Amino acid sequence: MILVTGATGSYGAAAIDHLLAKGTDASDIAALVRNPEKATDLKAKGVEIRQGDYLDKDSLVKAFTGVDKLLFVSGSEIETREAQHENVVKAAKEAKVGHILYTSFVRKEEITDSAISFLQDTHIKTENWIKDSGLPYTILQNALYMDMIPMFVGEAVVEHGAIVLPAENGKSTAVLRNELAEAAAEVILGEGHENKVYPLSNNDAYTYADVAEAISKATGKEVVYNSPSVDEFQKMMEENKVPAEYIGLFTAFSVAQAKGELELNDNTLEKLLGRKPTTMADFVKTVYA
Ligand code: NAP
Repeated sequence: MILVTGATGSYGAAAIDHLLAKGTDASDIAALVRNPEKATDLKAKGVEIRQGDYLDKDSLVKAFTGVDKLLFVSGSEIETREAQHENVVKAAKEAKVGHILYTSFVRKEEITDSAISFLQDTHIKTENWIKDSGLPYTILQNALYMDMIPMFVGEAVVEHGAIVLPAENGKSTAVLRNELAEAAAEVILGEGHENKVYPLSNNDAYTYADVAEAISKATGKEVVYNSPSVDEFQKMMEENKVPAEYIGLFTAFSVAQAKGELELNDNTLEKLLGRKPTTMADFVKTVYA
C-alpha cells in the first residue's frame, strides 16, 4: 500500500494522479486527509481515504498501518510545522512503514546563513529525524515551485511593465510542482532509491531579467526588471499596503536567489522524468500569452 499525505493539496493530489497514470491500481493507494469532506475527488478515483492530522500522532500511527511506501508531504503551517513533522516521523516508525519519502527543499550545504532559514531549519531537522529513524528513506529536495512566478512578480506585472524584486542577478532553477510530483511517483514505483537524497532542480537557471524578457515576448508588451535594495523594496511594499507576511516572503526568497541559494547544477530530475523539465520561458507562455 502506498500512502500519500497532503493529498488534498496541489502536490499530493498531483502525485496520486501520476501514480494512477503510471498504472498503479487505485486500491493500492491511500490518501491521508485532515478533512474527509475535502476528499470527494480522491474517493471518486477509488483511492482509500484515511483520516489523520500531523498534530495528532495517534491518528497518524493508525493511518500509516500496513503502508509500504509513505510519501510524506511537508506541512503548510509554518508555526507548528516542526512539531507536526516530528509526529509524522515518530508515527511512521511506530507503524513500521516500509519506506518513507519526504518532500524537503533544495539547499546548498555550503550556505550556513540561509536567507530562508525559517523554512530550511525544519527541513534539515526532519531529514535528520528520518535518517535517525532507521527506516529506509528517500529525501526529495524539491526546488522552488516555478508556479510561484506570477505571485512573486505580481498580478499587475504587465500593466506596470516592471518586475521589482531585490533578487539582483541571482538565478533560480525552479521547477513546476506537477513535475516534482511526477518525479515522486517515479521514485515510489521505481527501485534502488532507498537511503538517497535527490536534489530536484531544473536544468536551466533564470534571472528575473529573463522572466521579464519572457513575459515581454509572451505579451508583446515591454516588461523590465528592477532590483532595488532590500530597504527600498520593503518601503515600497509597505507604501503599497502589501501584508507584512508577504513582504517577508518576497524579501527572503529574493535575497536567497541573489545569494545563489536557489540555483543548482544537477540533472537528477531530468533522469527521473526521462525528459528535460519545463523551462521558465515555456511556463511563462502558458500563463501570459
Ligand atoms: P498545499 O496545496 O498548501 O497543500 C498542503 C497539504 O498539507 C494539504 O493537503 C493540507 O491539508 C495538508 N496539511 C497541512 N497541515 C496538515 C496537518 N496538520 N495534518 C495533515 N495534513 C496537513 O501545498 P502544496 O503546493 O501541495 O505543497 C506541498 C508542500 O510543499 C507544502 O505543504 C509546503 O510544505 C511545501 N511547499 C513547497 C514549495 C516549493 O516551492 N518547493 C512552495 C510551497 C509549499 P488541508 O487540505 O486539510 O489543508
